[in-house]
Amino acid sequence: MKCVTGKNAYESEEVAREALIQNRIRFNHRQGSGPINIYQCSDCQEWHFTSKGVEADFLNDDEVIDRIRKEIRLRDWTNE
Ligand SMILES: [Zn+2]
Repeated sequence: MKCVTGKNAYESEEVAREALIQNRIRFNHRQGSGPINIYQCSDCQEWHFTSKGVEADFLNDDEVIDRIRKEIRLRDWTNE
């Protein structure tokens, strides 16, 4: 489905959450930059990223932080 916002749309909160984690891993954003949260769109009813507002709670989850750090390290190592 194509949304009027032109943003990528994710079918559920769960999918959007995982996609945001993967985005943080892939782009290794500095703190306070890049997409930081997800929200349900009032136009398409699907989920989008946002870089505005407060950082999603799940990004501050110890398990998620640890996973992002490990996957970035692994990726950087593989790319060298
Ligand atoms: Zn939308």
